Amino acid sequence: MEKIGTVYLVGAGPGDPDLLTVRAARLIERAEILVHDGLIEPAVLALAPLSAKRISVAKRRAHHTLPQEDICALLVREALAGRDVVRLKGGDPFVFGRGGEEAEACRAAGVPVSVVPGISAANGAAAATQIALTHRDAASVVSFVAGQCKGLSDQDWAGLAGKGRTLVIYMGVKTAPAIAEKLMGDGLAPDMPLAIIENACRPQMRVLRGPLAALPDLVERERVQSPALIVIGEVTAREDSALATIALEAQQ
Ligand code: SAH
Repeated sequence: MEKIGTVYLVGAGPGDPDLLTVRAARLIERAEILVHDGLIEPAVLALAPLSAKRISVAKRRAHHTLPQEDICALLVREALAGRDVVRLKGGDPFVFGRGGEEAEACRAAGVPVSVVPGISAANGAAAATQIALTHRDAASVVSFVAGQCKGLSDQDWAGLAGKGRTLVIYMGVKTAPAIAEKLMGDGLAPDMPLAIIENACRPQMRVLRGPLAALPDLVERERVQSPALIVIGEVTAREDSALATIALEAQQ
């Protein structure tokens, strides 16, 4: 029987190569074929051997270079041809990474698939800013939501943000005004504190803070660019975490 390759869905973390898992680093270092999306830092890609074939399937909001079905078909085709494929994804493959769809496509085609978790942007950003996502004095619930999804206004986010809760919004830069309106419409206080963390765990990281009502203005005035996370909740306003961030910025 012909050898079938394995597809490795590998989380590349939020940017800094030091935040790869040991397993991810090993797989990248011996990769034959590397299929990666646009969020992967060059320093991570540089770990692959020069001989590795690199295929970019970069996705930008509303601009898919390769449609998802084609990415799935590419992974399956390479594996069926006997090659191991390292499919590198920003953060964790199973947090808004469409890793579920790729794993399903492999399983449906009889291709072995292995998933290597990565540090999701929320975890990386929390560490880099010293904003604890949960804190015994401030939050015992944390939720991750996609700010850019089908029918944002119909999504029920009620109860995800507020006292004692932390809401982390991925892909929310473009929809920031609708997000602020939606949350305040659900009864969230306009002065609920938030932090925007742009390019977490990368040299150009920026952290902006303000109240919920100021979110659209903050995004516009500071020209916040993707990738960025919006973290909403009292954990973002703890004096000690704000000081840690300022100290960090001063170091850079
Ligand atoms: N699988 C990824 C998320 C992919 S969705 C993960 O687990 O992190 C893409 C979104 O992730 C971006 O729009 C942004 O909201 C967030 N993101 C990814 N990398 C980021 C980074 N370094 N800093 C801030 N946000 C990031």
